[in-house]
Amino acid sequence: QAEQDWMRRHDAAITLDGHRIGVAANLADTGQAREVMEVGAEGVGLLRTEFVFMARHSEPDLDEQLAFYRQAFDALDGRPLVARTLDVGGDKPLPYWPVPKEDNPFLGVRGIRLCMQKPELLKTQLRALLMAAGDRPLRIMFPMVADWSEWRWAKALFDKIQSEVQATDVQVGIMVEVPSVALNAAVFAEEVDFFSIGTNDLTQYTLAMDRGNGGLARLSDGLNPAVLRLIKMVVDAAHAKGKWVGVCGELASDPVALPLLLGLGVDELSVSLKRVTLVKAQVREWSLSSCRKLAEQALQAVDAPAVRQLYNN
Ligand code: PEP
Ligand code: MG
Repeated sequence: QAEQDWMRRHDAAITLDGHRIGVAANLADTGQAREVMEVGAEGVGLLRTEFVFMARHSEPDLDEQLAFYRQAFDALDGRPLVARTLDVGGDKPLPYWPVPKEDNPFLGVRGIRLCMQKPELLKTQLRALLMAAGDRPLRIMFPMVADWSEWRWAKALFDKIQSEVQATDVQVGIMVEVPSVALNAAVFAEEVDFFSIGTNDLTQYTLAMDRGNGGLARLSDGLNPAVLRLIKMVVDAAHAKGKWVGVCGELASDPVALPLLLGLGVDELSVSLKRVTLVKAQVREWSLSSCRKLAEQALQAVDAPAVRQLYNN
């Protein structure tokens, strides 16, 4: 079976009833960009750009960043690249960017909040991304957005840089990792071009369970109906405005979650390189109509184990 899936890796992921689902790859290093094509991914659904900034003693300048991002675009041969702007802070400090110690780093100054304190850094990153893209499809998204003002700030910065660089095929969106954004999705959907749901953090913040705490791993399940409801709110709000929604957290490659995400209306799944072929094959086994029925049942379930149990009925 695995061999058959591999043979079909370059075919689109289309459900039994004819709905196409995008399947993209998560990348944490542009050095792996060539593998994106090899495994049959339709693009990069999440480039974690932290690798450009970590494990070094000083901030990377424009040219250094350009080289990394160009490497990715060159390997992708016209396929879209979703780049997440720098997502550090809290538990992921940068050596050249000392921040005050916090009691609750996961609730502290991280992601876009940290960039707001260092606008020059985000400006340089946006400039490098836009310059590297040129005429190639670039999707930029901001991490850890919780509040409208954060989106407005980041978007204004983007608009300023884009007016100078003028890349031709760019969309700007946000990650949905904080419940406030899902709850307010209708507001954000007016302005963003797309949403990408980071289920790792969205689960952590919805359930108030540290994603790195092994003792909570069993309870901290992205299939909790509360998380599924938030995903549904995002998809419904986005589609009402003609915007698309991807899922780039771990949940996207959970075989039990896959039909539920499709049933909730998610447009793209972005998974690790080694899972792309399998996820495409799994999409082909489902019809969207049965996924929708399953999703409806899941939304009525009492907890995550009950959602997982649906498959046995
Ligand atoms: C997420 O939170 O689901 C996500 C994709 O981002 P990261 O895992 O890098 O925090
Ligand atoms: Mg995250």
